[in-house]
Amino acid sequence: MANRKKRKIRRVRKNHTWLSMILFVIGMLGVGVIVMFSAEFSLYYMLEAKLMAEYDAISQMAAMYSQVSGEEAGEVLDSAGRDYLLRNAAGETLFEKGGENCSDREQLLVMTIFAKEIRVYQDLENPCLYINDYGILKFNRKVFVQRFGKDLRAFNENGVMQEDWKIYLPIWMAVETEDGEQLLIGRAVFQLDGREIALIVMFAALIVLLFLLIFGIMLVSLISSIINQKRTIHLFFTDIVTDGHNFMWYIYNAEQLLKKRRNAKNRYAVVNLVFVNYRNYCVCHSIQDGERLLKKVYWYLTRSLNRKEMCAHVTSSNFALLLQYEDEEQLKNRLQALVGQLKTLQAEHVFAFQVGVDRIEVATDEKGKAVRRKDIDVEVEYNNACTARSVLADSDDSGIEFFDSRLVEEQKWIDQVTDRQKTALENEEFVVYYQPKYDPSTDQLRGAEALIRWQSPELGFVPPGKFIPIYEKNGFITEIDHYMLDHVAADQKKWLDQGHKCVPVSVNVSRAHFIESDLAEQIRDIVDSHGTPHELVEIELTESAFFDDKKALVTTINRLKGYGFTVSMDDFGSGYSSLNSLKDIPLDVLKLDAEFFRGESGDGRGQIVVSEAIRLAKSLNMRTVAEGVEVKEQVEFLAGEGCDMIQGYYYAKPMPGEEYEKRM
Ligand code: C2E
Ligand code: CA
Ligand code: CA
Repeated sequence: MANRKKRKIRRVRKNHTWLSMILFVIGMLGVGVIVMFSAEFSLYYMLEAKLMAEYDAISQMAAMYSQVSGEEAGEVLDSAGRDYLLRNAAGETLFEKGGENCSDREQLLVMTIFAKEIRVYQDLENPCLYINDYGILKFNRKVFVQRFGKDLRAFNENGVMQEDWKIYLPIWMAVETEDGEQLLIGRAVFQLDGREIALIVMFAALIVLLFLLIFGIMLVSLISSIINQKRTIHLFFTDIVTDGHNFMWYIYNAEQLLKKRRNAKNRYAVVNLVFVNYRNYCVCHSIQDGERLLKKVYWYLTRSLNRKEMCAHVTSSNFALLLQYEDEEQLKNRLQALVGQLKTLQAEHVFAFQVGVDRIEVATDEKGKAVRRKDIDVEVEYNNACTARSVLADSDDSGIEFFDSRLVEEQKWIDQVTDRQKTALENEEFVVYYQPKYDPSTDQLRGAEALIRWQSPELGFVPPGKFIPIYEKNGFITEIDHYMLDHVAADQKKWLDQGHKCVPVSVNVSRAHFIESDLAEQIRDIVDSHGTPHELVEIELTESAFFDDKKALVTTINRLKGYGFTVSMDDFGSGYSSLNSLKDIPLDVLKLDAEFFRGESGDGRGQIVVSEAIRLAKSLNMRTVAEGVEVKEQVEFLAGEGCDMIQGYYYAKPMPGEEYEKRM
């Protein structure tokens, strides 16, 4: 498969689902972290704000203490309603209330809240608040739950909120008295009452809700991206006419299947199946009807496959199949049966289907063991199947053709001949041979046919049968026709000037050429460019040309005749019935095909046909030329029947100009 195509398929098929999922997980983690962080941050903010207020209250206590002295001072401190310790510079406790819960002096720590450094002691009764190594106030959940877990129930058995329910987190804060001599350590308490808790719960619920919302949105986008991806793959591999698989799907999946180790032992056939009548059917009905029929064909084919086989619609009338087979006979029978059934797909029509097959044999190692086909290229195999099918393309009938080395050779030959056509013409590698035509009753030279030969420096001597049909197909034949006419006109003029007794030379003009409306003028101009008299040039048309636009053909022939050229019908009696064309087309000469003189049946029927053909021509005022006459008896017979000329090996084979010159 071409790399570009492969890359494209891979790009479409690549599983982006994982990417979407990873993004989803990362997104969710990110949102989770942000939510947790902001929840934690809010809680700590609240904690610190409340503790800061406590600190202010303790500072006020210290200020009040500084105003009084003696025993009175203890009363003032006690009246503040908070546990405390008052120590002097030596560390002796002067006053206290509930001071046993304050941790040891050695555990004095410094915490920073709101950019203020405060010395603190942990509470012994409730040590949930602590200061970490960075001086940051922290809350120890574990200790909290361990110690106070059972008291944390905010609701009673009836589900009613307990009125006096509180969260209660103490920490001891130290403040120096105004004179700086004593230290007041007050118990700061962070507490939340039921109302505040309810607010926090609501806030938390809001955050969870927000989280769920984001989760939902991201989940929906994840699912839709996966669905979209699946849809893209589906579209990329679906044929819009049949709703089945398309060629992309075929080349990708067929290749995967063929490359599988477990399929190494199976033989496969890559098949190009063409619905020959599709275009005609569309013309007679409608494109929609045609496409409906294609769909029918597709689904019919699909139903005839086993699990390890494939079918796809390629373009208009082309289908690609991958079939498993045992041996060629079985494959051929199966395809024949398939075509047989497809032919009668619609009761009122008989369709034709052409099949090209490329066999994929089992690949083996040196020991003859089946090995995985790792280098298989289905596109190449399919192309081979198409090449095999193209052999049938000239006909409109059903048929099956297998691709083989002969076809490769043929294809190579076509390529060589096509590649060289232009240079061959420019280098005058094409040579004109002349085959004389004789009057059988007098043995006198009456004319000649110009026949092309190719002296190729690379390919050697190439007979016309090996390149003319190719040029007829690719259109280069019109150049050849001009070339031949040009050379014949030049030769004739030269011989005329040399004083030879010239006879008309016929030149073959191919059917493809006759569609050009100014063909008669083109011929006239070429001949005139050499100053050659028109009566020395004859134009040969093949019978098959008469199938095309008859009106245009008659016009061209009449013009040619008007310019003084003779026009003859070549190969009369070969293939198609041409009596009808004789009726309508004003020709001068009838050339009886060589087939008349091959394999004489012995009962004289052939002779009857020939003599009747000559008689018919005469009554239509046409002269006759018998082609391909090789034996004396035939010459004598034709002379007796009044045939005007004979062109055949009996008299002469086609020969180079110099040799022909001597015969004049
Ligand atoms: P064609 O026009 O029917 O030419 C007659 C063919 O019969 C020639 O084959 C000739 O050599 C051959 N032939 C003549 N007498 C005998 C005979 O007694 N026995 C046998 N066995 N064969 C005989 P050639 O030259 O090989 O040409 C084959 C075909 O190639 C021609 O058939 C014509 O269709 C085409 N062709 C040849 N030259 C040209 C050309 O210049 N232009 C075009 N358009 N086609 C050409
Ligand atoms: Ca001819
Ligand atoms: Ca002929």
